[in-house]
Amino acid sequence: MSAELLLEETLIKRSQQKKRTSPQNYKERLFVLTKSRLTYYDGKAEKKFRRGWIELSCIRCVEIVKMGGGVIPCQNKYPFQVVYDTNTLYVFAPSHDSRCVWVQSLKEEIKDNLVVLTKFHPQLWQEGAWLCCRQAEKQAVGCEEYNLFGDISRKPLPPIPGEYRNNERQRRPVPPLPQADDDDDDNEEEDGEEEEEMVVALYDFRGTEPHDLSLVKGDEYVILDKCDVHWYKARNKYGEEGYIPSNYVTEKKSGNLEQFLWYSKQVNRNKAEELLRKEDKEGGFIVRDSSTAGTYTVSLYAKSAAGEGGATIKHYHIKETQSSPQQFYLAEKHLFSSIPDLIEYHKHNAAGLFARLRYPVGKQDRSAPSTAGFSYEKWEINPSELTFMKELGSGQFGLVRLGKWRAQHKVAIKAIREGAMYEEDFIEEAKVMMKLSHPKLVQLYGVCSQQKPIYIVTEFMALGCLLNFLREQRGSFGLGSLLSICLDVSEGMKHLEANGFIHRDLAARNCLVNDSRVVKVSDFGMARYVLDDQYTSSSGAKFPVKWSPPEVFNFCKYSSKSDIWSYGVLMWEVFTEGRMPFEQSQNHEVVTLVTKGHRLYRPKMATPAIYDIMERCWQDRPDERPSFSQLCLMISDALECDAPPPNGSTPYYGGHVGSNTEDQLLNSIWN
Ligand code: ADP
Repeated sequence: MSAELLLEETLIKRSQQKKRTSPQNYKERLFVLTKSRLTYYDGKAEKKFRRGWIELSCIRCVEIVKMGGGVIPCQNKYPFQVVYDTNTLYVFAPSHDSRCVWVQSLKEEIKDNLVVLTKFHPQLWQEGAWLCCRQAEKQAVGCEEYNLFGDISRKPLPPIPGEYRNNERQRRPVPPLPQADDDDDDNEEEDGEEEEEMVVALYDFRGTEPHDLSLVKGDEYVILDKCDVHWYKARNKYGEEGYIPSNYVTEKKSGNLEQFLWYSKQVNRNKAEELLRKEDKEGGFIVRDSSTAGTYTVSLYAKSAAGEGGATIKHYHIKETQSSPQQFYLAEKHLFSSIPDLIEYHKHNAAGLFARLRYPVGKQDRSAPSTAGFSYEKWEINPSELTFMKELGSGQFGLVRLGKWRAQHKVAIKAIREGAMYEEDFIEEAKVMMKLSHPKLVQLYGVCSQQKPIYIVTEFMALGCLLNFLREQRGSFGLGSLLSICLDVSEGMKHLEANGFIHRDLAARNCLVNDSRVVKVSDFGMARYVLDDQYTSSSGAKFPVKWSPPEVFNFCKYSSKSDIWSYGVLMWEVFTEGRMPFEQSQNHEVVTLVTKGHRLYRPKMATPAIYDIMERCWQDRPDERPSFSQLCLMISDALECDAPPPNGSTPYYGGHVGSNTEDQLLNSIWN
């Protein structure tokens, strides 16, 4: 019988059902390798429950997973993959050596399999695409040759104390093997583990295709399939099924604050004050993420006493006790086991706060976010469903006009000028780009590719390009609003970076501003499809030399780190309110200057700490530049420090607003 135990170790397994990268999808499992199966169990060796297994004869590839710099959301940092049938299992080992042992032992066992792959994907399948080659088809043929005997991590196996390897045939007492609790051939993983997942709709959604399911804000839905990171198949309370946009719902479970009206995830201090002032309601409050990850702040608005007419905003950190179980409090002595309990209590009792939490602000009238395309797997848009309105501008590819899709959704429509673009390549890539969906990225909705000129349909951004916005409003920005712009861009770029996507032409001219003054990154990756030597050749007149690091203008070596350099220049554009970098110099002179170590000067509005962030982006060596996720933290910190002067009489820090007219209030947001 082939039940001989070869290896046994607790590793972490990524769920194959759920497509998101949430830590909940990474579970500890006891992995057991025998001559016939790789089985994984819940629990410890003594008391375990089988969750699933793979017949070794079905395995087509075992290899380490190369990480392209992304974050591994579990404590084991050494991933490997087991490709079987049409599935890929990702397992995370605790050390390099442990991974080596597993990969090599598995390879040894499958070497006579008839089904071994000739090509494989060296990186992860994540958020609907292969990170290595960006193909969005899960079954897409691998992008690298697979050599079963040329382990890409191969090095002599270290002896592991107390461990054993099958080819050395060192035996140790074999514990009784877990007997399969049933003997059918169903190797479906995680049997019974996936509970029905309930979600709550955060916004209304009107389905546009027959296969869509409409959402009603506040209603609950069962998730049937997370077919794509942006589109889930769901069922409503009437039993109707269809696709819904994943960013319109949030998981219904304790600990998830997003289901509450009072919680606004991506609202920083500046924005919270802006929203509270705009609402101007006594006891208006927002619970938001603090600048320290994993902690929360309550921002509270109240009119001053005795009819003075002023209003005060205070920010209270939700503190946590060190005790176990952990408890939460705003004002000492009032401890709660959860944040919702704490908020509920303070709705009725000020208890140390300067007002009760009377009125949640922020979510009620928040407009719904963009969806990744208009429906699931829909990237081709029927041009007869578009109506054209005014001209918005023109760029490298042609004319951009405001329009409507199906007479209701405002969109921007770019008509691609004949000969301006590698159209076929772009149309292929558009399917990937549509999946890049984030509140700080201009959403690509789809293309009309069956006609000439082809159209690119994107989210409409009412206030146009950031560069003009900065120039037109020059003199009206305060430090906080300039930092807010930078934070928006860094958040959009962090999403691109996390997905291994390089912008290649980040600059203020390629960011757009919407009617809520949110800045979003646009035109990402589009530089690759430009058919114009003046733009694509580093010596061409239109090449963005002034935004490029040395490795780009010398060797066209693009990376997320070259985007970081451009981001530093964009910060400089923001803090000069739209000046041209190296205004007095020609491109070739900039190459010489930068090569010699010369950098852009510190703009007047940039504090030394802010200029320091820019300078870090302009390190000669790409690996010495920060990542976008680090930049987001630096900018949030700078924003948090940019608090109005503390009001002496208040226990925490608080911004003070006088008896302002609405106009003054609005101005103060941007001052
Ligand atoms: P290209 O990619 O062809 O160079 P751009 O994207 O730079 O074109 O667009 C040219 C101009 O059209 C922008 O500067 C902006 O004013 C306007 N524009 C482009 N896209 C949008 C949009 N989504 N919403 C509003 N205006 C837009």
